Formats: sequence, C-alpha cells, structure tokens
Amino acid sequence: MFNLSGITSSSNKESKQVKVLILGSGPAGLSAALYAARAELAPVVLTGMELGGQAALTHTIENYPGFPDGVGGQELGELFQKQAERFGAKVEFDTAQSVDLTKRPFKITTDNAVYFSESLIVGTGARPNHLDIPGETEFTGKGVSYCATCDGWFFKDKKVIVVGGGDSALEEGLFLTRFATSVTIVHRRDSLRAGKVLQNRAFTDPKVSFLWNSALTDIKGDGVVKSVKMKNTKTGETSEIETDGVFIFIGHTPNTQLFTGQLDMDDTGYIRSTMMMETNVPGVFVAGEVADSHFRQVITSAGMGAAAAIQVTHFLEKASEHS
Ligand SMILES: Cc1cc2nc3c(=O)[nH]c(=O)nc-3n(C[C@H](O)[C@H](O)[C@H](O)COP(=O)(O)OP(=O)(O)OC[C@H]3O[C@@H](n4cnc5c(N)ncnc54)[C@H](O)[C@@H]3O)c2cc1C
Repeated sequence: MFNLSGITSSSNKESKQVKVLILGSGPAGLSAALYAARAELAPVVLTGMELGGQAALTHTIENYPGFPDGVGGQELGELFQKQAERFGAKVEFDTAQSVDLTKRPFKITTDNAVYFSESLIVGTGARPNHLDIPGETEFTGKGVSYCATCDGWFFKDKKVIVVGGGDSALEEGLFLTRFATSVTIVHRRDSLRAGKVLQNRAFTDPKVSFLWNSALTDIKGDGVVKSVKMKNTKTGETSEIETDGVFIFIGHTPNTQLFTGQLDMDDTGYIRSTMMMETNVPGVFVAGEVADSHFRQVITSAGMGAAAAIQVTHFLEKASEHS
C-alpha cells in the first residue's frame, strides 16, 4: 500500500488521498463505483458537468434490462448512484481539470481539490456532435435524437429524416426503416462517405430517399418536432419539409483532451484499451464510450464499468502484495 500521508498539494486546494478515483458519473462510472464500493475500496466518483452522463439526457430508456416498462434516463442515473452509495461510494460534484499519470499515486487536479489516487478509472464518455442550429437542443428527446437503436421504436409509422453521409448515418438510417414509413437522408454534399455495400442497400431500399447538397438550418415544432428548414449548399435556395423526427449522425467526440500525451488514443481520440480495460499506464483503467466508438449503449458502458472496477481490485491487491 502507498503511504499517502506525507503528500501535500502545491495549490491552495484541499488535498485528498483515495484508493480509486472514478472520472465520470455516466453508466460506466457509476457501475464501476458500485463494484469498487462492494470491494470495499471506498471509491470517489467525480461527476463532471453531466450527472448521470448522456443517458440522463434522454426521456425514456427502453433497452436497459430489468425495466420492462422503460425507465427515465435521469431516474436510471439516480438509481445507479443510490446503489453505489449504499455500499460506500462517494459522489462529488466536481470536474477533473488536469491529470498527472507519470507516477503513482496519480495526481488529479479538479475544480475544488487535488486528488492523489492509487488507481484511476476513466469513464468520461463521449458526446454526439451537434449541428448547433436553432431548435436542436429544445427538441432533443422530443423528436431530435442521436441514437436510432435507442429511439427508433418511438417513430413507428412516422416520417423521419437522418442527417449525415457516413457509415453511421446509413447504418442507422437503414435500421430506422424497420419502424418509420419513410427515411429521408439529408447530406450537405452530392455523394456519400459511407461504404459501397451500405450505399447500395440504402439506394435500393424503397423507404429511403436522399436530399443532396442540403443543410439543416432550423428545427421547428410545437412541443415535438414538426418540420425542418433547409438550405441548398450550392444554390442557397431554402425549403421546409414536414417530419416527425430528426436523427443526427455527424460523428462523436470522446471526452479525452485531458489525457492527451499520457494515455494512448486512436486517430479519433478514443482511448486505446485491452480486453481487460487496461490503458498503457498500469493502474489506469477505462470504461464506456471513452474507449468505445462502436457499441455506445447504457448496458455496454455499464458492463465495461463493472469490468474496470474488477480489474482495479486485482491491480490494487497485487500492488499491495509487492509493497
Ligand atoms: C440523447 C441520447 C439518448 C440515448 N438513449 C439511449 C438509450 O435509450 N439506450 C441506450 O442504451 N443508450 C442510449 N444512449 C447512449 C448512452 O447514453 C451512452 O452509451 C452512455 O451514457 C455512455 O455511458 P458512459 O458512462 O460511457 O459515458 P457518458 O454517459 O458520456 O458519461 C460521461 C460522464 O463523464 C463525465 N465527465 C466528462 N468529463 C469529465 C471530467 N473532466 N471530469 C469528471 N467527469 C467528467 C460527464 O459529466 C459524464 O458524467 C443515448 C445517448 C444520447 C446522447
């Protein structure tokens, strides 16, 4: 075990010593907290700005097992938190500003304190890229969505548009044809970036149509989405079409800037990890969307959180045997 008693912080912030610090209060972070707490490691979770993570942004989650009638996104986050706290996890409304992972204990400077932690679980998640147009935030969860797997079912027998031209836009657009009566793919260019097989599938699907050289400028509605305004990117001509839903797939950005130069990342900024949730720094583990650009679900993120905490438990046991 480390002797942490002599460590002082050079700033005026309070210095805290912990065995496990978890960055993020989404499904990954809070599930890690539950497992680490049950291993009696007294984990501390830093919530960041989004308590409950992305899941808390959505009205209802219908694909998390154990809730046959669905569960509110925010409510699920609160339940995760309550369960972790029951076993001794501490949740702090605080955000990590910088990390020093060059030696253990790791030093994490937050808005309010400086943590020295024997191990770290990074669950800082990702965020879907936004169009940043009027109506987008207002109608998120009320017709605007960033996840077809999550929200497609709500658009049974409805008309939807999909924004984007890459693999995700086509994959998710094709998935939406299971529910919607029509799927209009709106793309700012006149050709797609998506792979040829997907393109062929989309071009031959009778429910899918394309609006080329078109960019959304406004999402309008009355409690729920009713229409979108568009501008032709070549001619500047404007138009408005009726729709029940707007699915936006213009990429995701992982919340990993904090770890640049310290944790290995892929070309798009996702943290590289092993099957055992390990990073390139022994003692630093990852969980959830921060290391997963593929599955992006509550259940997969929660599963990775549990796995990371199990690995932390083994890591700390071994570390204490060797000290
Ligand atoms: C609108 C919407 C609807 C969705 N609906 C569903 C659905 O119905 N079903 C489903 O399975 N999935 C759904 N998803 C996907 C699901 O929400 C995510 O896959 C899941 O939340 C990812 O969990 P995570 O814990 O890895 O990361 P996130 O949920 O992204 O959480 C990241 C956490 O890290 C924190 N954080 C970030 N930076 C810092 C920092 N510097 N210091 C401390 N903390 C930090 C944030 O505050 C946040 O608490 C939806 C996503 C969106 C956006």
